[in-house]
Amino acid sequence: DYYWNEILQLANEYPDQRSLSVDFTDIEKFDRELSKEFLDHPEELIMAAEVALKEIDLPVEKSLEEAHVRVIRIPNRIPIRELRSKHLARFIAIEGMIRKATEVRPRITKAAFECLRCGYITFVDQNSFRFEEPFAGCEGESCGKKGPFKIRIEESTFIDAQKLQIQESPENLKGGSQPQSLEVDSEDDLTGNVTPGDRVIINGILKSRQRTLKDGKSTFYDLVLEANSIEQLDKDYDELEITTEDEEEILELSRDPEIYGKIVSSVAPSIYGYEDIKEALALQLFSGVVKNLPDGSRIRGDIHIMLVGDPGIAKSQLLRYVVKLSPRGVFTSGRSASASGLTAAAVKDDLNDGRWTIEGGALVMADMGIAAVDEMDKMKTEDKSALHEAMEQQTISIAKAGIIATLKSRCALLGAANPKYGRFDRYEGLAEQINMPPALLSRFDLIFVLLDTPDHTLDTKIANHILQSHYAGELFEQREKLPGSHITEDFVEAEMEMIEPVIQPEIMRKYVAYARKNVFPVMEEDARVYLINFYTDLRKTGESKNTPVPVTARQLEALVRLSEASARIRLSNTVTLEDAKTKFLSATIMSPGLTF
Ligand code: ADP
Ligand code: MG
Repeated sequence: DYYWNEILQLANEYPDQRSLSVDFTDIEKFDRELSKEFLDHPEELIMAAEVALKEIDLPVEKSLEEAHVRVIRIPNRIPIRELRSKHLARFIAIEGMIRKATEVRPRITKAAFECLRCGYITFVDQNSFRFEEPFAGCEGESCGKKGPFKIRIEESTFIDAQKLQIQESPENLKGGSQPQSLEVDSEDDLTGNVTPGDRVIINGILKSRQRTLKDGKSTFYDLVLEANSIEQLDKDYDELEITTEDEEEILELSRDPEIYGKIVSSVAPSIYGYEDIKEALALQLFSGVVKNLPDGSRIRGDIHIMLVGDPGIAKSQLLRYVVKLSPRGVFTSGRSASASGLTAAAVKDDLNDGRWTIEGGALVMADMGIAAVDEMDKMKTEDKSALHEAMEQQTISIAKAGIIATLKSRCALLGAANPKYGRFDRYEGLAEQINMPPALLSRFDLIFVLLDTPDHTLDTKIANHILQSHYAGELFEQREKLPGSHITEDFVEAEMEMIEPVIQPEIMRKYVAYARKNVFPVMEEDARVYLINFYTDLRKTGESKNTPVPVTARQLEALVRLSEASARIRLSNTVTLEDAKTKFLSATIMSPGLTF
């Protein structure tokens, strides 16, 4: 009654189309009891619905024998880390990112065994994990022999199967905790539709599978989600909830004439100095505008930044802070242990008895966000070569063992690297010192070289700042943890002031998400002219000396992105001359061959 048109359409397209999609809210409207029953006993109810579909009287000469009923928009959304045994056999929705996907391969569902003595064919349903043979022997009349049998492939039934692994998305992780993941079984027309990096909601029935030990079965079970339907999510910042009050606060902040400075100073206030870097990091958070041109090409808006320098000067701390402020930040180290590393890999995996699996690495999981990669100098060679593509085209291609796949990695890269000899040598090229090819370095919009040179005034200031943060931290901890402490809240607050961000991280994340989603600035004429002149003037300096050019068009594009990001900080849809005159005009011009 409710889905008659959809059923007719399905009947028309069947068997190319094999699924009827049913909105859970419709079941709720139709019968509340039934909808509750459905969540608790999904298996029987889906089966009943599929039987009904099979038996329905259609105006066309077709039977929807193998059609599926797929239920979407399930309210029962459960974070992966909160899955418990009470959820077993229930219908649940899991939201996250696809981390791994195996190849799509046939799975036998009904095996045809031909008896070699009498020729009779016995069918055995294959519902479990293990391949079942005819236990009771041949079903042929007066045969009943226990074989031998020969399997008849053309008589058997197969279904396409694919295993997936879904992982919590970066924006749902609190305080840099490790993301958890869940295995998913998908079949038939659900297979082959998602790739690692995709954001999805998978609705299905939670099943358990007994672990096997070397000497028998274990009492522990692993969880597997049997997918009933997969909903693709928009890769937007929708997951980060921005309430109307938040929006008001964001708009209010944006009207502050000092907003630019406030945003910049709210990046890592506990780190002293580095105003330029903090400004660059703020611009990276807001990002330039992605452009899709009519010829089908796409220009990235993400700003890639590299911090190179002596050890112990807060590079890693800055990276961690940016991840905290980014609506979608992923932190990894260049020498990460996983097979997929930074980019992606095709591996023979334990997910499914040696089937080839594509696994997305950090840059895939950070799609539409920021990937902070520490210790980039220790990166694997494969990652290094894949990074060229990942940074400019923002895709990662895999061609291995017959698998050809392209994953998306539309993220900004924030790298940190230590120089090879521990300390930075100003008389040697940057590229050699951090063990990275110049072609890769040139893809960074900004490269900062941080040198740790002793300087009494500066050292005193840094030391004071560090001691102050520790002091304020000590006060805070003592007040919290020691019941009899005499320290007052006001006192702690006063001492904290210096390292307190003007804009709190929670609202800053929302501000960034809001800007990236709602602000698309266009550059004004005078700003454009300014950048063109700046660029051509710089190129001229190379012309006269007949030396390799100090800047390339890449740096010009970098300037455009930085200017756009600058306008976005004000939530302004216009890039003004002021935005274009960013102070990085000289910092961007660090070409990789240069010595310092
Ligand atoms: P790196 O990754 O550059 O080797 P880290 O980020 O691990 O260095 O920093 C080492 C420590 O020194 C951190 O605890 C950091 O807070 C402190 N530190 C270094 N420079 C500063 C600074 N300018 N202001 C505050 N703390 C600093
Ligand atoms: Mg470090």
